[in-house]
Amino acid sequence: MRVSKLLMPTLRENPSEAEVISHQLLVRAGLMRKAASGIYTYLPLGMRVLEKIKAIVKEEMDRFGGQEVMLPIIQPAELWQESGRWEVYGQEMFRLKDRHEREFCLGPTHEEIITSLVRNEVNSYKQLPILLYQIQNKYRDEKRPRFGLMRGREFIMKDLYSFDQDQTGLEESYEKMYKAYTNVFLRCGLQFRVVEADSGAIGGSTTHEFMVLAEAGEAQVVYCQKCDYAANVEKAEAVPDKIVVGTESEIQLVHTPNVRTIEEVAGHLGVAKKQLIKTLFYKADDQMVAVLVRGDREVNDIKVQNHLRCVQLELAQPEDVERMAGCSVGFVGPVGLEIKILADQEVAFIKSAVTGANKNDYHYTGVSLNRDFKVDDFTDLRMVQSGEPCPQCDSSLESARGIEVGQIFQLGEKYSQSLNAKYTDENGDEKFFVMGCYGIGVSRTIAAAIEQNYDQNGIIWPITLAPAHVVIIPVSTKEDEQVKEAEALYRQCLEAGIEAVLDDRNERAGVKFKDADLVGYPIRVTVGKKTIQDNSVDIKLRHSGAEEAVNKNLAVTKITEVVR
Ligand code: ATP
Ligand code: MG
Ligand code: MG
Ligand code: MG
Repeated sequence: MRVSKLLMPTLRENPSEAEVISHQLLVRAGLMRKAASGIYTYLPLGMRVLEKIKAIVKEEMDRFGGQEVMLPIIQPAELWQESGRWEVYGQEMFRLKDRHEREFCLGPTHEEIITSLVRNEVNSYKQLPILLYQIQNKYRDEKRPRFGLMRGREFIMKDLYSFDQDQTGLEESYEKMYKAYTNVFLRCGLQFRVVEADSGAIGGSTTHEFMVLAEAGEAQVVYCQKCDYAANVEKAEAVPDKIVVGTESEIQLVHTPNVRTIEEVAGHLGVAKKQLIKTLFYKADDQMVAVLVRGDREVNDIKVQNHLRCVQLELAQPEDVERMAGCSVGFVGPVGLEIKILADQEVAFIKSAVTGANKNDYHYTGVSLNRDFKVDDFTDLRMVQSGEPCPQCDSSLESARGIEVGQIFQLGEKYSQSLNAKYTDENGDEKFFVMGCYGIGVSRTIAAAIEQNYDQNGIIWPITLAPAHVVIIPVSTKEDEQVKEAEALYRQCLEAGIEAVLDDRNERAGVKFKDADLVGYPIRVTVGKKTIQDNSVDIKLRHSGAEEAVNKNLAVTKITEVVR
């Protein structure tokens, strides 16, 4: 690649809407451009990084027995109605109609489509296990698309689905994917932790998230230095004296007089049921009063939190709650705020929320629920904080922010039952497939890699993800000899299988150096007057800043050493 011909529009200033480093640098380094909120175009260098990650993901999926397919992006409503998710998915789903008024959605995920494929095409235990995957665009109309590739509305996901005969088979498939995911993120050069996670409404019991540790992460994880315990705080269990929810202005009090079930609450709020990640239930008279904590983590931004007053919502004992049972109140807010279950100030809080200065920010009133709900449901509510004892070994827990780059689920029979997907076992009996699903945020991983690898000058790509290994810079394109040397080295690199970029622009050296740092090529080679005199080239490593003069005949060998 010659920079003079490359579409690589670098910028010196940060785009105003870019709040996090990865978003700023992806735009400034000319890797992507915004088309609409949460929707991006990948430019040539961005595309190369994307292809690198996809190649790693494919290799690891194939290594563990995955077979690649391509499922449709446009999916018929009927399948989602069959599984029951058409109603519960809420506003995150992009819905559309064709010219005959038939309903469709843009796939936010593909459990329905793949289960219907397998129910039609796989019928014997002899064909199992089967692991099918794709790498494709996903569409989610996120409430707050932001942070560039971290939370897009169109984004790229690798999703794999496993179909097994029984739970033992599922556990084997799950183990394979656990290993494959570990390999993927190691090969991407990322520091990550695998944490226990909450399965929410997707169903199933066992699930893990792969979290890249970075300040910009929207998730909070706790982990133990002594043993292997690590969990998303949503999952970490503790006694119910405190839960984390959101800041005052983010809490909505929702008026839903006729709502009786969680599904209806979710429908009323226009969110997926799984977003109502935590639910507190209190008995009051003959009603259940629910405190719904909406898992809207994108609002839980540290920057927002720091300058907003944090409200302590004090929840009552059941008898105190009776006083608000008349309107049966539901509090709905995002994760991030502490609620202490202690005294009886909740009514005052509700009043201040409704009559306070920001009253237009709130919708008000209550939620009452069927009694069939167990009061015990609130026992796993409190989110664990750092410094608390590890549930496995009792030493002190640490906490960190994480970017969820992947998640694996044991689904069990949730979708095979609702979509009636069966195979015939050895004895000729019909059984439901036992399923797992496994997602990697391929485009989010690009952002995560930058969040972990940058400095004030730009991106510092791990060698496996870099858009190219080396940039070759002739200091002056007006000096024939420099141009000749640089061209020769460029050709030698390409012949040796090194991904090289030649910055042949007629620009000042300073401009080319700045762009090289901004784009983040792992290796920079400079050809100048002095290096030519010395029969050498200057090789600088982006990662360490180490710079050395290398005899020009040894340059390719040296570069190859760094790349391999
Ligand atoms: P989040 O909690 O961040 O909203 P999720 O749990 O809803 O993510 P999954 O349904 O588990 O996401 O999807 C699998 C993977 O897809 C996630 O682990 C994440 O890496 C990626 N992903 C999900 N939503 C987005 C998005 N809006 N933009 C980019 N990547 C996403
Ligand atoms: Mg989500
Ligand atoms: Mg998640
Ligand atoms: Mg997830």
